[in-house]
Amino acid sequence: MTLDAERKMQFLFALRSKGVTDARTLDAMEKVDRGEFVRGHFETRAYDDMPLPISCGQTISQPSVVGLMTQALNVQPRDKVLEVGTGSGYQAAVLSHLARRVYSIDRHRTLIREAEKRLAAQDIHNVTVMTGDGCFGVPEQAPFDRILVTAAAEDPPGPLLAQLKEGGIMVVPVGQSDAIQSLIKVTRGPDGLQYHELLPVRFVPLIEGVAPD
Ligand code: SAH
Repeated sequence: MTLDAERKMQFLFALRSKGVTDARTLDAMEKVDRGEFVRGHFETRAYDDMPLPISCGQTISQPSVVGLMTQALNVQPRDKVLEVGTGSGYQAAVLSHLARRVYSIDRHRTLIREAEKRLAAQDIHNVTVMTGDGCFGVPEQAPFDRILVTAAAEDPPGPLLAQLKEGGIMVVPVGQSDAIQSLIKVTRGPDGLQYHELLPVRFVPLIEGVAPD
């Protein structure tokens, strides 16, 4: 299904007005129908710039935040990307249009099953989703050119930093879960890690261990 022209224009306009100006990011977001990732009760709000509830008490992030994170990640066409926090699979779908290969991990098996179906239904075949504790990254696929964490950690997890290639970029919300968090961009240069604070955000917490569901 594709967005009808007017809704698509409004959706893209809202992204631009919130600072998502990178052409490749806007292109990728235009290709992914957020409605496919928000079924049921909140479907009618799928094109509004707001986070929405999904299964397992989690949330699909606000489109403008997805856009700003994607833009900060500066994904290149040959990149291998890791996303921690698959949720609905929406962010992974956006990344699939920018990267060569995307690995996305979530601690909820139910979310992974649903995301896998949605991605296949949209003919997205360069994303591998998996159940697990993303705090440890995915060592068997490391190192990654880009790492995106879509749940808030108190500090960027060490194993994830260790799985970032030289020249790589990691974007992660940092801070206590019940307070305002900061989106941080971590770059691994030849002399080590550099940190830049991007903007205040609010994400669900990064929780250790695999969930029972
Ligand atoms: N990127 C998602 C939204 C993420 S919501 C989207 O586009 O819809 C944050 C997700 O992080 C939740 O699904 C939650 O289950 C997951 N999460 C929290 N802690 C985690 C951990 N340690 N490992 C993997 N996933 C985790």
